[in-house]
Amino acid sequence: MKIIHISAECYPAAKAGGLGDVVGALPKYQVLLGHSAAAIMPFYHGKYSRENEFTSVYSGIARLGHTNFAFNVLELVKNTLGFELFLIDIPGLFDRENIYSYHDDDERFLTFQIATLNWLNQLEGVPDVVHCHDQQTGFIPFMMSKVREYGKFEHIPTIFTIHNGQYQGQFGFDKLYHLPPFHSYFNGLVEWNHQINPLASAIKCAWRVTTVSPTYLDEIGYSMKGMEELLRKERSKSIGILNGIDTGVWNPETDPMLEKNYSIKNISGGKSANKEALCRQFGLDPSKPLFTFIGRLVGEKGADLLPEIIYNLSKFNPGEQNFLILGSGEKHIQNALLHLEHEFKGNYCSYIGYNEKLSHLIYAGADFLLMPSRVEPCGLNQLYALRYGTVPIVRRTGGLRDTVLDIGDNGFGICHDQCSIFDVTHSIQRAKSFYKNKKAFNAIRKQMMQIDHSWNKAATDYIQLYQSLKI
Ligand code: ADP
Repeated sequence: MKIIHISAECYPAAKAGGLGDVVGALPKYQVLLGHSAAAIMPFYHGKYSRENEFTSVYSGIARLGHTNFAFNVLELVKNTLGFELFLIDIPGLFDRENIYSYHDDDERFLTFQIATLNWLNQLEGVPDVVHCHDQQTGFIPFMMSKVREYGKFEHIPTIFTIHNGQYQGQFGFDKLYHLPPFHSYFNGLVEWNHQINPLASAIKCAWRVTTVSPTYLDEIGYSMKGMEELLRKERSKSIGILNGIDTGVWNPETDPMLEKNYSIKNISGGKSANKEALCRQFGLDPSKPLFTFIGRLVGEKGADLLPEIIYNLSKFNPGEQNFLILGSGEKHIQNALLHLEHEFKGNYCSYIGYNEKLSHLIYAGADFLLMPSRVEPCGLNQLYALRYGTVPIVRRTGGLRDTVLDIGDNGFGICHDQCSIFDVTHSIQRAKSFYKNKKAFNAIRKQMMQIDHSWNKAATDYIQLYQSLKI
């Protein structure tokens, strides 16, 4: 099959979270299964664009409302990714360092979608399936089926994957004219709650909707920022497919970002060497159990609970544990985390920012990884933690529920039900006593590292889904 993925992120070209990891891996595994898979994303002017060489394969004009935009389609000169990657360069909109959080994000990503379809429209032939990821590509299924200009794609199956339903990309009807012309009869297909909403449009128009875990699919039917009714209505065409991880990139035996590589055979020594490197870097004590957190510092991830949990445990159980936090996000959480550093120096440290290399070292060197998420569509961190022999401490929600089983149920993680200070603290206390039993602790590490969460299964599930739509 000829598969096209369209996304705002694709690792290593651009990653802000799990979306980047997924779109950087799924096409690769689909190629390994014998298909042709390509990814299309915007060309951001960040580190990746500075460090790689690109060649232009097409130049065109995209129209957004009354404005024309010139765009270029770029390809890597030396592509070793394992799949084709095309980057759409739109001067004025994407020649910026960051992926998101600009005032004109709706216009940026709508122009990206229009430019993508304009380019595909003038190529010979059509793909067998177009797979769109998250709201930044949410108008594609609508435009392919209802905009006359793109009539050639009317019968091409579209898949839309919800990686995160919290971000919907909605804007007012005053900007309806930004979309390419279509019959007003179809206005309802871009609308939700009296606004233009790309996420809702994709859920309505895509041939199939997928979520990144089965439990998340159940949860969004009763909790998804006002879109629950739509999710329930479209349930029959929706399916939850659990994400995999790229075991080529995330492999403690070969990961170049670690202090020391290790496998199941030398897990104790390997993890200790990485823990010592980590503790040296952050002035922590390697003899204490090390609790870590990696991720966006937002309420969705339960990150707002961390400062109080760290304060209470460091104050009332001093010297019993160490904490290390890596993340960035809401200012008040960042400030609260930074504030604690002075008081608990030697037992706690945080790195506010994004650091891919450090994240790998943390997965390898930590004893425990905290994920107290309120919402977790799949969660990749716990899967990386398992692969690196780090015990995940998770709230039973979304993909965390689907992938982590509590040690009390013959599992390998520590689970709690509420996103509350009490529940997380209780789990940390359980973890500390578990840590003392070195034999059991090492046995669990071995068990975790053997679990197969590679993309093989999920990539096959997606192919079967595409094939079921063949016409
Ligand atoms: P999200 O909801 O943010 O997409 P996921 O669990 O699906 O969460 O994926 C998070 C990905 O982003 C993981 O690869 C994780 O290691 C990475 N990540 C998150 N925050 C940071 C950070 N501050 N520095 C480095 N990597 C990060």
